[in-house]
Amino acid sequence: MKKSTFILVLIFFIITSASAQKTDKEDENAISRSTVSLETLIQKESPIYVITKEHVSRTSGIRHVYLRQAINGLEVYGTESSVHIDNTGKTIVSHNNFLSDVKSSVISDSQSLTAEQAISAVANQMGYTLSDIQQLKTEEGISKKGLYNKAGISSEDIPVKLMYYYREGEGTILVWELSIAELETTDWWNFRIDAATGIIIDKDNWTEQCNILSDSNHDCGSNLSEYEILEMDINSNTETTAYAALFNVADGVGTYNVYPMPIESPYFGSRSLVVGPENATASPFGWHDTDGAIGAEFTNTRGNNVSAWDDEDANDAPDGAFTDSPGVDLVFDFPLNTTYSAGDQSTDAATTNLFYWNNIIHDVLYQYGFDEAAGNFQVNNYGNGGLGGDSVNALAQSGKSTCNANFSTPADGSSPRMRMYVCDDEDGDYDNWVIVHEYGHGIHSRLATTGGAERMNEGWGDYYGLMLTMQSSDVGTTARGFGSFAFQSVFPGSGGARTQPYSTDLAINDYTYDSINTEVSPHGVGSVWAMMLWEMTWELIAVHGFDTDFYNGTGGNNISLTLVTEGLKLQPANAGFVEGRDAILAADAAIYGGANACAIWAAFAKRGLGQSADQGLSTSKTDGTEAFDSPFAPIALCVADFAIALDVNGEVNLTVADIDNGSSVTCGPMSLSIDPKFFTCDDLGENEITLTVTDSYGFETTCTTTVTIEKHPTTLTYTGDLDEQYSDETNLSALLVDEGGNGLAGETILFTIGSQSTSGVTDANGIATATIIITQDPTPAYTVDVEFLEVACYTGSTDSDVFDITQEDAIVEYTGHLFQATAVNSNIATVELSANIQDITITNPDPLAGDIRNATVKFVDRDGGVDISPWIPVVDLFDPSDPTTGTVSWDWDVDLGNLTS
Ligand SMILES: [Zn+2]
Repeated sequence: MKKSTFILVLIFFIITSASAQKTDKEDENAISRSTVSLETLIQKESPIYVITKEHVSRTSGIRHVYLRQAINGLEVYGTESSVHIDNTGKTIVSHNNFLSDVKSSVISDSQSLTAEQAISAVANQMGYTLSDIQQLKTEEGISKKGLYNKAGISSEDIPVKLMYYYREGEGTILVWELSIAELETTDWWNFRIDAATGIIIDKDNWTEQCNILSDSNHDCGSNLSEYEILEMDINSNTETTAYAALFNVADGVGTYNVYPMPIESPYFGSRSLVVGPENATASPFGWHDTDGAIGAEFTNTRGNNVSAWDDEDANDAPDGAFTDSPGVDLVFDFPLNTTYSAGDQSTDAATTNLFYWNNIIHDVLYQYGFDEAAGNFQVNNYGNGGLGGDSVNALAQSGKSTCNANFSTPADGSSPRMRMYVCDDEDGDYDNWVIVHEYGHGIHSRLATTGGAERMNEGWGDYYGLMLTMQSSDVGTTARGFGSFAFQSVFPGSGGARTQPYSTDLAINDYTYDSINTEVSPHGVGSVWAMMLWEMTWELIAVHGFDTDFYNGTGGNNISLTLVTEGLKLQPANAGFVEGRDAILAADAAIYGGANACAIWAAFAKRGLGQSADQGLSTSKTDGTEAFDSPFAPIALCVADFAIALDVNGEVNLTVADIDNGSSVTCGPMSLSIDPKFFTCDDLGENEITLTVTDSYGFETTCTTTVTIEKHPTTLTYTGDLDEQYSDETNLSALLVDEGGNGLAGETILFTIGSQSTSGVTDANGIATATIIITQDPTPAYTVDVEFLEVACYTGSTDSDVFDITQEDAIVEYTGHLFQATAVNSNIATVELSANIQDITITNPDPLAGDIRNATVKFVDRDGGVDISPWIPVVDLFDPSDPTTGTVSWDWDVDLGNLTS
């Protein structure tokens, strides 16, 4: 059985007879993309484009216009473009894939096959056996759009239409497009066939499988998560609950015994009777209506949004197997044994649960913009735009396969098909996350054109499933494994059918953008995307809280659904991850004025899809580059380098305020920290201080300042004698204090007077004392200098004062004449003056014996007050070996005049 989910499977591409010259032509005339303004283009009708879809979003008010280029009104596949215009008429996003000269790219426009021949050609190439082909609708218009019957090869009628098909690097040819839902497999192929040759040139599968068993290069066994299965809470026994049917078929309001939203599966909650779960906005006439008038048209599991039936016979047809309301009163309450067995299938309970959940998804997503105009699934669009006639065909317990589920999405106006399977004794119809996942394929298929190796299809499915099964008690770090109930037997781990469970805890789920290099496509790649969306959801919940009203709430979960759904509409065709992220940001800008940009960037950056992430080609999942940055990086501003001395405690304690110079963040609140911030004497010199600015999402920016830690300053004050006699001992002292005035003990202070110096050590009070016996001449002027040389933690300091050295005291004993007579006839008398000079040491011991040879003596007339002699050196010692005692003499010639004495 084929299970390939390749969107684009190249079979052949025949370039007709021109192939030999194609390379030359391509080289000299490569087709470039157009720069035409789509906004301007769509303002008037023109045969150069075709609008393929258009609607105004109920959530954003944005007019989404999707178009293809056209040649004479016939659309060109491969030129999918879109323009998105807000309600003020401003274009907010535009994706232009038009070719600059599409006509020159045409290498074949011959149509030699009719539509019926094209179907026959497909049947031949695919090995189908055609029978009784009939045209149901006449081909009309330039595209010759028509409809054929199932013709024995398809479970659905076969639509056909003519179009051009452009492939980059090759050119444009005319093709027939038609779809066939294979009878023997789950594949629903959409083919494009060369209209000239009948060769299939391209096909994509409208069926997307649910679990990774369907990946082309899967290696599930070795990738299985090691996590334990989540706690189980199985309510497997039959329940019979008494109830009163409050509503009836006339109201169109039903009662359903189901595992109601938000219960993920029987592991996570109990089945219960839900009365009137219909949403009045999304399903104004209830779930069993199709005519748009009060009252139900069906009393079974059929209605406007979904037709659910048991398809054990695997023919994809109802065969009358809808589950009926036994009382014809829209009460669907059936016994259930969740352990599926051939003898106890609980078919009605399963179909009821599947019917309920398809309707729930319809109603919830309607609020977020998956409505009629956007291409949702309804029989009757109640005049709200879009094409009707396409409710979901939901097949419970499909016999087509096991241990999987799938969803096929044809174009708007044709019903999609959901197949739920049994897996051993587990019935997928109770794994509500899986049901939503499948429906999610319908959502992205109708809201976006997806393709390429980087397509996120499986991610949206997982995401919507996560969102509709959130409980108010949930936290982001909880490990949630996809399909834990439905696929327990084949994926026995809490990662479920994914390689890792979903969790915002990186230790549980470490997916980043680069993970898609090794994750298989589409499921592994998709689950990386879902993890990013899940991360974003929890960031939004952190800001806005969680709201249990999934329809009209205002919580972070509601905002997430709004952004993701609108993002699908805004992204370009065949988008990759970066384009998907940017579309969500554009949605936030359009709907919330960008208020959630911080949270969105934080989430994507955490998972490697930050600002600098590079997608490469969306057709390759290995050429991207992850990045973890945000455009809202905090701005860190540091002060200029500075110096600071150790404080009185020998420390420096810096604060943020010492380093910050006006740092700021966009996503507040801001927190600031510095490192290092504490310094001691061991840190003297230059220290680089780093200021880290952190925003509320943990983004950091740093700057640095060099802080020079300096020693304690000291102050030295001389407090000792300021004068002393020669040969005497002078008392020296000084006070050494720090900047706090505290004396510094144990430090050596150097005292210097002239050429004499000594030192002292400070005591506990910081006082150092010393003595010097002065041996220097009284002249000239001296200073006393004190100096403290810097030590490990303290700066040096000095002080200085004027210091007088005075002459030493000495004893002078006059020994000369006391009187003198004059000579005869002369009035001049010569008086012999003399004195003994003796150092004071002799009578008053002095530390240093004075040397009287250095002394000078002068005789003075006390009466006249005049000097008799000059200063006379003492040269005569009494004892040549004793310099302490000597004598001096002077002859005084006195002019007595008339005086007598
Ligand atoms: Zn899927």
